[in-house]
Order: sequence, then structure tokens, then C-alpha cells
Amino acid sequence: TTRTKASAQPLENADELIASVETFIFDCDGVIWKGDKLIDGVPETLDMLRSKGKRLVFVTNNSTKSRKQYGKKFETLGLNVNEEEIFASSFAAAAYLKSINFPKDKKVYVIGEDGILKELELAGFQYLGGPVCKYFNLHEDGGKKIELKPGFLMEHDKDVGAVVVGFDRYFNYYKVQYGTLCIRENPGCLFIATNRDAVTHLTDAQEWAGGGSMVGAICGSTQREPLVVGKPSTFMMDYLANKFGILKSQICMVGDRLDTDILFGQNGGCKTLLVLSGVTNLSMLQSPSNSIQPDFYTNKISDFLSIKTA
Ligand code: PLP
Ligand code: CA
Repeated sequence: TTRTKASAQPLENADELIASVETFIFDCDGVIWKGDKLIDGVPETLDMLRSKGKRLVFVTNNSTKSRKQYGKKFETLGLNVNEEEIFASSFAAAAYLKSINFPKDKKVYVIGEDGILKELELAGFQYLGGPVCKYFNLHEDGGKKIELKPGFLMEHDKDVGAVVVGFDRYFNYYKVQYGTLCIRENPGCLFIATNRDAVTHLTDAQEWAGGGSMVGAICGSTQREPLVVGKPSTFMMDYLANKFGILKSQICMVGDRLDTDILFGQNGGCKTLLVLSGVTNLSMLQSPSNSIQPDFYTNKISDFLSIKTA
């Protein structure tokens, strides 16, 4: 592979980087928190950046919560963050449908969890699906167990005009069949993915199958590729740059993952900073097989407080 970009530099002059941009976009898991645990020095770092007049924006590919639910999470962790500053891939799915004027008399079929349903509801879209499956589910309440007798036919709603797929811990075969019927049989039905992360870190003991696994199932059965609204696609970047009226060259994207966060920043024409407080370590960054090089890397965002101009 050919490197299109110079190798990442260790962050040596944080003040210069801070002075060079007006907005910081922070990825959440691996940068702000790890699971439910705040990463060291984050509150002080965010306070310092705000005191310098920087705009702070938070972007996460985790679609299981809504913007409002993330607002609560920030609050619980003692962080002073407004809902309007939070862009989760659940919110992005609803924002995308709004941006294309998705008809309010059509419906959205959701393979995913509560966050997506909450955002669709708030945006005024009709939806069905979600964690509890009409036909069969892993919850103890609701749902009908299907008997695949001869002649059994799964009915699907002909008014579904979009299928949104995100991370779903209640994923099952019947959801795949339902989504596939909508995409294959409803003329013009959209296939939207919140994100395609291969793995997530539900526990720190191992890597768990990510949202990309649910999306991949639907790709397999429909032979279609989704429109991705989460990182690294440019949708959220364009959306928030437009919303706040910011130039992308005035943004620094800070993340812990090369193929989502750093690529997201680079696709958007932003400065990029990799932090090693999440899933990427120095040897992964410097591996010959990695072609994604951020502008800078450092251990964690609180290095902003300790790295001073030489
Ligand atoms: N998707 C799921 C289901 C997750 O649990 C996580 C991280 O916890 C992510 C995606 C990645 O989130 P982020 O973009 O904040 O790193
Ligand atoms: Ca992350």
C-alpha cells in the first residue's frame, strides 16, 4: 500500500494545535469514557478548552442511546455537556431522513435498539421494529414464536420506505427476513446503516461483534450496500459543520480509532489527533499494514494540560 500521508507525529505542542482550530470534535468511547468509566483528566481538559472559547462537539457511533440519553450519561459522569453538542449515530439516522424529506406517511423499519426509536419518534417519523421483534424475540415478554409450517408467509408492511440498521443485542433471523422483504419488495426502499464498526468493547475482557455484523447480514441477503450515516461517512461532519457554521479546516477530530474516527476527520478535511486511551495502541498505529495516519497522536486528551510549548 502507498502512504498518502506522512506518519503521525507525537503531539509536542498542544497549545499550538489548540490555537490553530476553533472546534474540537471528540469521539466518546475511548476518548471521554471507557464503557461507563470516565477517562482521567477529562473534565479539567474540557473546562480548559471551553475557557479558551473552543466549541466542543461529541460524536459517537454507538446507536443504542438517543441524544437525550447521552445527555444523561454526560451528566452522570459530572460533565457539563449540552444535548445540542452530542451527535450519536442514532440521531444521525433521523437527521438524514429529515434531510432528504423522507415522507411522514411512510414508515421506517428499525433493526437496532432504543436510541434509534427515540430519535425517529422525536423527528416525527413512523417506525416499527426495534429490540422487541414482532415475530420472535429473546425477551420474555411479547413476540410470537414462529412455526415454519408449509405455506407460512411472513407479511411485511408495504409502507416501509427505509430500513435503518444499527447495533442490536436482540438481533435475530426473523428481523433479517423482515428487513430483507422491505428492501427487496418495497419499491425505492432505502437501506441505512448507523455504523459499520466491526467490533465494540462491551466488556474490556474481549472484543465483541459490532454494529457491522448486523449491517453485514442485511448486505448478505439483499446484495445491497447501505448508506452509512455514522463515522467515517461525511454525513455527520457536513451536518454539524453546516449547523454551527464552521469551516472544516478549523476543526480537530479527536478519536481512538483509525478506521472510524481518524478517517472521519480526514474525509472531512479536518486536523486529526489519535489518542491511545482506547482501542488503538502505538504498534497498531505504526504497523506497516496501517495506512491511516492522523496528524498527531498522544496518550489521552488530558495531555493537553501537561504538554506545554517548549
Ligand atoms: N457501537 C457500540 C455498540 C458500542 O458499544 C461502541 C462503544 O462503546 C461503539 C459503537 C463505538 O462508540 P464510539 O464511536 O463512541 O467510540
Ligand atoms: Ca471510540
